[in-house]
Amino acid sequence: MIFWVQASGKYRAVLEEEAAKHKIRIQFHNKGAQWGRAALDWKMVWIPTPARFASFFTGLHELGHIIVGHKRGDGKPEYLWEYEAFDWARKYCQQHGIVVPARTVDYEREIIAEKAHASAKEGSKSIDSVVARFILQKHNGHPDLKWAKERLTSQGRIRANQRKPV
Ligand SMILES: [Zn+2]
Repeated sequence: MIFWVQASGKYRAVLEEEAAKHKIRIQFHNKGAQWGRAALDWKMVWIPTPARFASFFTGLHELGHIIVGHKRGDGKPEYLWEYEAFDWARKYCQQHGIVVPARTVDYEREIIAEKAHASAKEGSKSIDSVVARFILQKHNGHPDLKWAKERLTSQGRIRANQRKPV
């Protein structure tokens, strides 16, 4: 069955129900639709009071960090944390018949590409291939997507800087 969640009250109910299911506490704020934090140890999230889809999805993403089991010091690079939280939120929507707008997916892709690029700058030679394929799905003028197009293979390998001999 497909249903559409549009009213902000319904968004809030969805977040509260999912949080309760996983014993996560929610603190709503009004600092902006894309600002969210998750306290992994305390099982608590600071998320925007849901109004439109973007703020709702930020809430789901933060819950996702805790629900997929991220732990401080779990050894996962930041880009993978962000991808896994996003992926959980996206799957939640898919399973509940909630359409995720392309601009929301694009925004998450840019964040994940930025973190993957940061990993490369820190010396990583490769990233997870599923994440690499997600990053490479779309190309626009975003600088980290541009980096990915030039340096990242669909297997997740990061190509070294090509230096021309002088
Ligand atoms: Zn996140």
